[in-house]
Amino acid sequence: MDFIDLKAQQAGIRDRLEANMEKVLAHGQYIMGPEVKELEGKLAAYAGRKFAVGCASGTDALLMALMALGVGPGDAVFTTPFTFISTAEVISLLGATPIYVDIDRRTYNIDPDKLEQAVAALKAGDPRLAPLPRLEGVGKLRPKAVIPVDMLGLMADYDAIGDIARKHGLTVIEDAAQSFGAVCKGRMSCSFGDIACTSFFPAKPLGCYGDGGMIFTDDPNLASLLESIRVHGKGSHKYDNVRIGINGRLDTLQAAIVLAKFEVFPEEMEKRQEAARRYTEAILGIPGIETPFVPEGYRSAWAQYSLLARDEAHRAFLQKGLQEQGIPTMIYYPRPLHLQTAFSFLGYKEGDCPASEDCAVRTFSLPMHPYLTEEQQAFVVKVLRERSAS
Ligand SMILES: *Cc1c(COP(=O)(O)O)cnc(C)c1O
Repeated sequence: MDFIDLKAQQAGIRDRLEANMEKVLAHGQYIMGPEVKELEGKLAAYAGRKFAVGCASGTDALLMALMALGVGPGDAVFTTPFTFISTAEVISLLGATPIYVDIDRRTYNIDPDKLEQAVAALKAGDPRLAPLPRLEGVGKLRPKAVIPVDMLGLMADYDAIGDIARKHGLTVIEDAAQSFGAVCKGRMSCSFGDIACTSFFPAKPLGCYGDGGMIFTDDPNLASLLESIRVHGKGSHKYDNVRIGINGRLDTLQAAIVLAKFEVFPEEMEKRQEAARRYTEAILGIPGIETPFVPEGYRSAWAQYSLLARDEAHRAFLQKGLQEQGIPTMIYYPRPLHLQTAFSFLGYKEGDCPASEDCAVRTFSLPMHPYLTEEQQAFVVKVLRERSAS
């Protein structure tokens, strides 16, 4: 059994994939070819955004977003420690300081109450109000932006986050790397924030066959800034460089591949809902295992289907039982970012983000993709149930 079955997907769309790739080989515009623009138009319409800018990865999407917003030294950027390293790495790369805000244990997403407390703590320079980096002069940092992450495919609480951001003048960047196709109260993933970022890494809900990403905004100035940053800060042409940028382009071939996959994407999203529903219905009754929580009005993109075991030993026991039956599982994520070695300079300690730390030792993910069969799922659940009873 595959954790994510990309081969089954490929078999179903092989003709479209080959036709799209053939087209690129025929026209030869490997860099910024017509497929890039076509994909930008289609995904902007799907997400309900005015502008989309294709880029080289989800990480570059976040980096370019922060660059376009002028984030740099002296700026504080609030984010969750329960995420992939990219989310916070780009903050530090630009010389700004990540401020970690703990999650709501039920959703794995940034807790708006704790965000409010963290902003207050920073403004007052008072770490008793909320954990802050143990850096000299931390109280002098400017509260600049917040990057909520739509963890595992479930969108963050954008109503509450939006209120806090408006109140404190924070820019919002949605990290939607895991949530393309998700819905929150009638609005699509990538439609929130001043800028939203997604990834086409192969294992994401909408993936390519390499690296790729996209940035969304409704602001024409930000869109043209992003287009300039994507190509080395170009001005009127490629050899007129008006700002510091990067090589952040999306390959034409990757855009052609995403175009083929996007044709079946809405259907795949429905299949993911069915698969998740089947898992949850069957697992709900197993003692000691918590199924994922999806708040009213939300549709997860189910990038992952993650459970919570009772504790770390229980998780290891369940994972081993599944593995012995050939069922792969993964842990997203085993160590929250505030405790990662790369961020040790921030001086965070164990206990600073207790919900994230708790989820990190209890969470594990089951195989999840649109081509999971009912039989496969029944087998996974059977093994899980038997293991739990033993
Ligand atoms: C995958 C991921 C990224 C980075 O995307 P890449 O395309 O791999 O660079 C950023 N944030 C989150 C939450 C992710 O899961």
